[in-house]
Amino acid sequence: MLAHPVSNFLQHSAALCDAVLRLRGQALAQELGRIAREVLASPAGYYLPVDEQAGEGGAPVSGLVQEVRFEHQLFGRFVVSGRDNYSALDEQHLASLASLAGSVLQVHSLAQRSTHAYVQVEAQLQHQSQILDQMHESVLTMDLNGFITSWNKGAERLFGYSAVEAVGRNILFLYDDEDTGFRDAFLEQGGRLMEVRRKKKNGEVFWASLSLSPLCDINDRSIGLIAYLTDITERKLAEERIHHLAYYDALTGLPNRSLLTKLVDQALTVAQRSKLQGCVLFIDLNRFKLINDTLGRHAGDELLREAARRFRSVLRDQDLVARLGGDEFAVGLFDISQHYEASMVAHKLLTALSAPFLIDGHDLRVGGSIGISVYPQDGADAETLLRLADIAMYRAKQQGDADGDHVAFYSQDMNQGMQERMRIETGLRHALGNGQLLLHYQPKFSISSGKIIGAEALVRWHHPERGLVPPAEFIPLAEATGLVVQVGEWVLEAACAQAQKWKEAGLPPIRLAVNVSAREFTSALPGRVTETLKRYGLEPSWLELEITESTLMHNIDRVIGIMDRITALGVTLSLDDFGTGYSSLSYLKRFPIDTLKIDRSFTTGIPSDANDCAIASTIISIAQQLKHKVIAEGVETVEQLAFLKSSGCDEVQGYLFSQPLPAAQFEQALRDNWQPAQADKAA
Ligand code: C2E
Ligand code: MG
Ligand code: MG
Repeated sequence: MLAHPVSNFLQHSAALCDAVLRLRGQALAQELGRIAREVLASPAGYYLPVDEQAGEGGAPVSGLVQEVRFEHQLFGRFVVSGRDNYSALDEQHLASLASLAGSVLQVHSLAQRSTHAYVQVEAQLQHQSQILDQMHESVLTMDLNGFITSWNKGAERLFGYSAVEAVGRNILFLYDDEDTGFRDAFLEQGGRLMEVRRKKKNGEVFWASLSLSPLCDINDRSIGLIAYLTDITERKLAEERIHHLAYYDALTGLPNRSLLTKLVDQALTVAQRSKLQGCVLFIDLNRFKLINDTLGRHAGDELLREAARRFRSVLRDQDLVARLGGDEFAVGLFDISQHYEASMVAHKLLTALSAPFLIDGHDLRVGGSIGISVYPQDGADAETLLRLADIAMYRAKQQGDADGDHVAFYSQDMNQGMQERMRIETGLRHALGNGQLLLHYQPKFSISSGKIIGAEALVRWHHPERGLVPPAEFIPLAEATGLVVQVGEWVLEAACAQAQKWKEAGLPPIRLAVNVSAREFTSALPGRVTETLKRYGLEPSWLELEITESTLMHNIDRVIGIMDRITALGVTLSLDDFGTGYSSLSYLKRFPIDTLKIDRSFTTGIPSDANDCAIASTIISIAQQLKHKVIAEGVETVEQLAFLKSSGCDEVQGYLFSQPLPAAQFEQALRDNWQPAQADKAA
């Protein structure tokens, strides 16, 4: 019995799908041929795949041929024969079978192709991750915010963190604490290759070369960075060792001549910009050769090391010191405002050398000779300055006394200046100990009453040869050397002793003003003032301290603390030379000041100079606002007095009334000045 045509067709379709899915090549062709024969009930017939058709002839004489294709793709053809004839229905059946075969073959070949591609991709990925893990370099990726997205074996080895520990954390956790931040460094260094410091899991910090490249998605949008890191610590250390060998003296650890030259040139560029002076000191040890020759190299080396330590210890951090070779050293100073400061440093260095060197049981004495060259006067580059300082050092050696300790500037003018200053300094020390200092007193007048209300004590130096030397010629130097502190102590003492005499002589109490320089204004001052007043039995109202604006410039809070302690005693403070510095007005109101003193340079211009007049009257109104008294110094004319009076100034001091006077004359002036008043009272 013939099967039902539909179930027949389904059977054949299922067989065809099954064959395509399971069979390949010859077996598939045979099965397809068998199905075609069955569908068309033909004794002969086969399926010929497209790649095997080359040798075949055309269609058999009696039979059917049907191509198997899907759209443009030809897979093969069915050929059936062996029946007497084939109807149009047979032809239709074979066409349906071929169409089904074409679709199934097409779908199957697509599926196979993508499976194949997938397998290939998978193999490739496997490949690449193997390469990544096998390579020595550490490679990691991060997103745009620096969060780590992948981490290869090299990174595990380098940092000590496994991928599980690292992925998801921010890259910053690998930074050495000193590093600034990942963005900055990346941008600064142009986003390519850089040398960085990173930290391992065990805390060890190392140098790495880091190269970064952008990580993009398939649309070429940047989504992060790929980082390649290699440990270059070894190389860095080697470089540092080489650098150290090239630029440092192995014996003392100080910079050598090459580094000094570089650093000096750099510092000169800065000094030029900030209009500062610079100088180079060339130091040569005396008697070094003798010690080295007689006690041997070991002692010589130890001596040089100790000398280097001593030099370093008396210099400030920003000063340069280098060993040039042998027993020659050099020092660079770059923030000095006066060249004579360099000679002070030179003397400090020589003092450092003067203490005995205890080496190998020997008590060795070495001195030194120092030559100084100054930028910009002598030269503008390190080589020139070093050469000239060397020449100056030779001159210093020649001029030196038996011990050879000497300092010389390259410039003759500076040399003379230095010698002059040294003479003054020595002379002043001598003057302090030998009663050559004295005080003159310049009266201060109240404008309203016309009476003397006080005096300013002004120091003079009675020089055995030069006569009376004004303070302008020795106070600035005393300030620079620190001697001003001793001068100040003497002045306070002398002024109080004088006040005691006047008090005991029954003169009306006045305020004696003493000038106090910035260097004296320390926390020891209030105690010294208290003690001195007590010793002379004086009420604090006898004393006033004049301080200058420069005193107020540093460490305001400390200064205010000292001021408060002084005013708490009942001693008043006045601000000298007001207007010449630049006190901030906001600070001014915090200072416990009694009087503002208009500087002589403004008084001089009154009344012709409109600016000076404006400044003077502004100072007066500031003083009034802040409830301070105001005094004008240097008043020489009646016009000046008239202007000051009409502007509301309280007190005046100047040649119009009186020059600074010796004590006896001042006393007389005081008596005369008060006589009429007493006469008034008597009348
Ligand atoms: P200073 O404190 O501003 O003193 C005022 C100076 O102006 C005094 O000069 C005084 O003689 C001078 N002078 C006063 N009235 C007139 C005038 O009408 N015309 C002119 N042309 N000058 C007048 P002196 O005595 O030469 O003192 C100069 C500076 O020396 C003082 O300026 C002060 O800064 C300092 N000085 C004086 N004695 C001492 C002291 O004992 N210790 C400290 N640290 N400095 C002192
Ligand atoms: Mg003064
Ligand atoms: Mg003054």
